[in-house]
Amino acid sequence: MTGHLSHQCPQCGAPVALEETDRIFSCPFCQVRLFIHSSGPFEYRLKPRISHPGTLIHVPYWRFRGNAFVLGPQNTQHKILDSNLLAVDNPALPPSLGLRAQAMELSFVEPTTEGLFLPPTIPSADFKSRLLRALPGLPAQRGPKLTACVGDNLSLVYQPVFQSHELVDAITGEHLGPASIDPSEAQKAPGNLKFSSTLCPKCGWDLIGDRQSLVQTCPHCDTAWEPGPEGGQPITPHFLHTQEKPDIYLPFWNLSVQARGFRLQTWADLIRLTNLPRALLPWMESTAFSFRVPAFKIRPGLFLNLSAQVSLYQPEAPALEILPRTPLHPVTLPREEAFQALPVVLGRLAPARKNLFPKIQGGSLRAGEASIEYLPFVEGPREFVQPEMNMAIQKNALFWSTTL
Ligand SMILES: [Zn+2]
Ligand SMILES: [Zn+2]
Repeated sequence: MTGHLSHQCPQCGAPVALEETDRIFSCPFCQVRLFIHSSGPFEYRLKPRISHPGTLIHVPYWRFRGNAFVLGPQNTQHKILDSNLLAVDNPALPPSLGLRAQAMELSFVEPTTEGLFLPPTIPSADFKSRLLRALPGLPAQRGPKLTACVGDNLSLVYQPVFQSHELVDAITGEHLGPASIDPSEAQKAPGNLKFSSTLCPKCGWDLIGDRQSLVQTCPHCDTAWEPGPEGGQPITPHFLHTQEKPDIYLPFWNLSVQARGFRLQTWADLIRLTNLPRALLPWMESTAFSFRVPAFKIRPGLFLNLSAQVSLYQPEAPALEILPRTPLHPVTLPREEAFQALPVVLGRLAPARKNLFPKIQGGSLRAGEASIEYLPFVEGPREFVQPEMNMAIQKNALFWSTTL
């Protein structure tokens, strides 16, 4: 389920409904297309519905939407989550917004938004580990486990309250208790949100791409761009070559890491670490290993399977002078979130996890370089097939992914 978000068109002023996962603002009235970029997590607010004496203060809640994974020595559990929790320490405030974040209309926090804003004091990593400790609907697992939250959206949702001598919910008018927020900790609306032109920064042509995709391309000068604070930032996507004529390209992140506490630089390191049943060959000692994870929305079980399959195949995909004219499936998983999946993907690669877990938990994987790698797929009656890797993805798994 996607929330409702509305925003006034910066060019013509019309109110435009969009999805929280849109990375391109597209106005149906004046046709303008703009990159939506936020330095830091996206920040949304619920609008006050009542007026009341006192100071209008916006209280932050972390919201996570995406997949949660718990990998035990014997089994893997996963769940699709849309959860939120209070991002400051204040027992007077509701610990969660409940369904408000999904059910009510959201607006972007803009520098001109009235009222004060409390900055979050609980880090997003703490929020994620609290979610993982109490996953709804999953039996608690004993013993060692690896966990990850991999989201297409980690955001802050602000709940408005009025504070005088008491604290009042600015949506329902409900009394929450005596005044308990220190107004000196609150500040004016943060200005992290930027809308900028989607004209190609190199040649001025209109960039094209799905509204939800982090990658937009220029059909005129064959360049690719992602949203940045001042407009498009150049990126270099890579493409696996195929003998057959592809019908669609699916994007994967190619992620390098620096491991601490254990070795994971080369293929040989990977085989020794995970006990993969493969013979150690001389080339493996000198060939770097990097992870691959799907950069598009897909069910959690499939996400892990595809990550394992493509990571073990290590496609060799060069950059191209001319971009293919075949449709590119939208890139919806930000690279920071893709990196979060790696401990679980590494655990998933190992046939026997028991010895591996303490090593992974005792060390860490530091994010290195990330690039987008497009794999070509040929359309069959019910599935898309990657001929080189002999890998198939059901069409409805992709269709589901764009409607989540
Ligand atoms: Zn407009
Ligand atoms: Zn161009």
